[in-house]
Amino acid sequence: MTRPPKPFPWQREVWAQLVAAQREDRLGHALLLAGPAGSGKKHFAYCVASALWCRQPDADGAGCGGCPDCRQVQSEAHSGYFLLRVEEDKRDISIEAVRELSEKLTFTAHDGRAKVAVIDPVDALNVNGVNALLKTIEEPSPGSHLLLITERPQALTATLRSRCQRIRLAAPPPDLALTWLGTETGGSVPADHLALALEVAFGAPLRAAELLADKGLELRLGWQRAMLDLAASKAEPLAVADAIGKDGAIDWVQWLFGWLTMLMRARVAPSTAGDPAVAVLAARLPAELLDRYIAEVQTALYGVRGAADKRLILDGLLIGWLGLLARAGRAPQNAAA
Ligand SMILES: [Zn+2]
Repeated sequence: MTRPPKPFPWQREVWAQLVAAQREDRLGHALLLAGPAGSGKKHFAYCVASALWCRQPDADGAGCGGCPDCRQVQSEAHSGYFLLRVEEDKRDISIEAVRELSEKLTFTAHDGRAKVAVIDPVDALNVNGVNALLKTIEEPSPGSHLLLITERPQALTATLRSRCQRIRLAAPPPDLALTWLGTETGGSVPADHLALALEVAFGAPLRAAELLADKGLELRLGWQRAMLDLAASKAEPLAVADAIGKDGAIDWVQWLFGWLTMLMRARVAPSTAGDPAVAVLAARLPAELLDRYIAEVQTALYGVRGAADKRLILDGLLIGWLGLLARAGRAPQNAAA
């Protein structure tokens, strides 16, 4: 975390509402930061934590980035800052980890100052973990704030959602995202390449910046081509799985989830697809079938990280994709045509 703790341009409105709520003492102590991948949720959580501790906040209520508190949050070393993530090669966040967090919130001295726990992502908690978290939310220790990050608020239980104050962190409109991306890349990338990166990142500017930095753009364009080729019977699923490889499995499943979500959007708004071939494909797929396949991919998202045989998951999802296409071909609106 090397950026100053200021919200991104597209988060300013949400930020102003949050600061107003804090000043009027109506800020919930459990905040659900929900939004698509690469839209800046983690950064927003960091801004909130900095603002709660900063000794010299700016006029907008954001942290200065330079005082000892801001610097300690930045290096994740602040004594009142607790971060819970999925450990490497683990499938979810364990109940033990949630209990430990809860104890830290209860027993850490705060001297009237804030304590902040970030859970990223909160949808990685299993049923027991969620129950332990609910207990922590219902019996808050003084001065504690829970910042719960998720890309998939719909995957959370209604009980958990209802106990949190929802902060919607949407991706910015394309023109704002492109302007930001241009500044971020120092004006060194041609505009059409920026637009392509943003398209491949499904409109999420931080993800687009990452893709431009690490060459992930070509890889993802190749994945999209493979899905289109499968739809046109120009590729074999096992060969596509070979090309992705087990080392690429986690990234691919994450990409696939985002790509399918984009397809769902493109069914009603074809211009959001970018590539015209994608828009044509989207129009061919019945929403109900697509929805069912997205649920399958979502299950794989949880499973793939800790799976011993990642190849099995790749094969299963690619065969599922062919199954969806076959059923879409038999769907009533096509048969009637
Ligand atoms: Zn500061």
